[in-house]
Amino acid sequence: MKSEFDFISKIRGRSILSKIGDDCAVLPKDSRTDLVITTDLLVEDIDFRLEWAKPEFLGHKALAVSLSDVAAMGAKPVWAMLSVGIPAQVWKTDFVEKFYDGWFALAEKFGIELVGGDVSKTPDKIVIDSIIAGEIKKGKAILRSTAQPNDLIFVTGELGGAAAGLQLLENGESLKNTQHKNLLLRQLAPDPQVEIGQILSEKNLATSMIDLSDSLSSDLIHICQESKVGAKIYAEKIPIDKNLLENFDFLDFALNGGEDFELLFTANPKNQKKIFGLQNESENYIFTHIGEITKNAETIEFISKDETRILDPEGFRHF
Ligand code: ADP
Ligand code: MG
Repeated sequence: MKSEFDFISKIRGRSILSKIGDDCAVLPKDSRTDLVITTDLLVEDIDFRLEWAKPEFLGHKALAVSLSDVAAMGAKPVWAMLSVGIPAQVWKTDFVEKFYDGWFALAEKFGIELVGGDVSKTPDKIVIDSIIAGEIKKGKAILRSTAQPNDLIFVTGELGGAAAGLQLLENGESLKNTQHKNLLLRQLAPDPQVEIGQILSEKNLATSMIDLSDSLSSDLIHICQESKVGAKIYAEKIPIDKNLLENFDFLDFALNGGEDFELLFTANPKNQKKIFGLQNESENYIFTHIGEITKNAETIEFISKDETRILDPEGFRHF
């Protein structure tokens, strides 16, 4: 069966200007500004389950995933369109109102204006389409295709928490009944790194960037494919979520688990000091150097104490 990425690649070949391939499309807005725009589709029982959390959390997440794509371009999110397809039995409840409460709570935090959307009925499951548009100084959007050999690879924050949270939810834990609230919240209410993305673009510190939505291994391979480079990363440098307990396979979660919504970026080695220097400005700015870009096209070398192996990208795929 064709993979999701094969399909996108075919569609991309049919697109005239070839704006496809980054976390957002970058379009000319005026002489000084570019517009960035992204869309995310969330389908009940594929991308979320209703029994896992209150509708407010789902509203938060629907916005957060798109904000994360805007963050990955280094841009400022400004406008949103939100469309919902709802089955009749859900429409009768207060689900939609609560869902929008969660959405607006996060939107207010970032000053996002809702400028449109659509409502329809579905036969069975909820479907949500979240579109965000934002702005960035012309030519400053940070793409996936501009990493250079010898660049350093950084990630923000800590990894693996959202995947562990997902496993706990699948095993029947809930926010009311868990000792791992932080892990569940990493999965249910992600925190998009909008501020850090903008700082990196304003200060010209990143040569390429992507957000970690599918997994470290599969998102890093997107940077490698788009930039026609390779990468090596070091097992002991990967920042594992502090809340991961010993009985989790934490390296697997951190490498192959999705939805941490942290940023992965590359930088010229000469900027390493400046990047680590940013950490003094806020306790929320956490940067970890996890490896380097190589000339070994589309190959990720994974270096641990015991071995060096080629990392096969694994992570969330719809198809
Ligand atoms: P992300 O995880 O950042 O949302 P995706 O992996 O979903 O990105 O998509 C990768 C690229 O392919 C993006 O540029 C996206 O806009 C594009 N894309 C995904 N699905 C489609 C589609 N059905 N038609 C056209 N472009 C698509
Ligand atoms: Mg993305």
